[in-house]
Amino acid sequence: MDQLGTTLRELFEKRNLSRRTFLKTCATLTAILGLAPEMLQDVVAAAERKLLVPVIWLHGHECTGCDETLLRSQTPLASDVLLNMISLEYMDVLAAAAGEPLEEHLQQVMQAYKGRYILAVEGAVPLEADGIYCMVGGKPFVENLRQAAAGAAVILEVGSCAAWGGIQAAKPNPTKSVSVSDVIHGKTIVKIPGCPPIPEVLTGVIMHYTLFGKLPPLDSVGRPKQFYGNRIHDTCYRRPFFDSGMFVEKFDDAGSKAGWCLYKMGCRAPEAYNSCGNMRWWNGLSYPVQSGAPCVACGANNFWDQDPFYERLPGIPVPQTVANADKVGLITAGVLTLGVAAHGAASLIQSKKHAAEEEEKAKEDEK
Ligand code: SF4
Ligand code: SF4
Repeated sequence: MDQLGTTLRELFEKRNLSRRTFLKTCATLTAILGLAPEMLQDVVAAAERKLLVPVIWLHGHECTGCDETLLRSQTPLASDVLLNMISLEYMDVLAAAAGEPLEEHLQQVMQAYKGRYILAVEGAVPLEADGIYCMVGGKPFVENLRQAAAGAAVILEVGSCAAWGGIQAAKPNPTKSVSVSDVIHGKTIVKIPGCPPIPEVLTGVIMHYTLFGKLPPLDSVGRPKQFYGNRIHDTCYRRPFFDSGMFVEKFDDAGSKAGWCLYKMGCRAPEAYNSCGNMRWWNGLSYPVQSGAPCVACGANNFWDQDPFYERLPGIPVPQTVANADKVGLITAGVLTLGVAAHGAASLIQSKKHAAEEEEKAKEDEK
């Protein structure tokens, strides 16, 4: 608890970290928060002045995959911010303590910081049979959630389970699992979907709230715009292959080995809004499409029910396919152009629909 009542700057001093390291961290934070480089001075000033916000992290009906991604991040801000820089006051998975002392600690923190803490929730909320399919500390998780949510300043739905219900809510959903926002009303809730989400997105939202005392701009469904505003398809390094009609047809074919587009293998990225294509995982090293797996749009609502995963999306025209590189020159320009134009039209319609929804949300926010 040595982070409580402490600024980020003081925390660095306590740990004998140099000012240079502090400034480098602020520069990384500025980039992650999607701020212009000129904002670095504001980030430094806030990091010197603002007290760290306590975070309570609850686990519901889930697999802890979201924890795994966070802990395995290489970016300094994930492991350092989570474990050292933010005031993570309760997280049962990582805590050395267990049982009643830990639950008592949770009660104390909720009481001491009532109305001021960030509540991060991982996992869905099962409601069948009064919630007995997920018991924590001898109580149904839904009860713990309601109690913790009552005193929270902000609630973060971490991962697709918390944000949408996730795999637990997939058909036939025997535990009647739902999202956090299906149960908690009248609170500020941020969706950080993904299975798992990109860790820097989570730390970015927490640090934005800590440094500026407010949330980053959200889209019409409550996701931070700076991280969920772009289609993965538009940032994919395989995109030139899509536009050229060069598709993987089988996971072990020549196109697959040459890194062609995975659209025909079921890639959902033309309909997926997330930062996977530009931020990636493991310090920007890779993401599913880069490893040869089609995107399954894991940040989307009900994605588990959108099977089969390895078949292409219906309704999005694709450019002409070529069997191998030797035949690229045989594609008639007309067919290719038509295919690209059709894709362009489909993309345009989808982008306009997305933009219209966001515009509507912005107007509502202004009211
Ligand atoms: S969103 Fe995915 S990784 Fe996270 S808890 Fe749910 S199933 Fe696990
Ligand atoms: S369909 Fe998938 S693999 Fe192909 S360009 Fe789009 S995101 Fe990349």
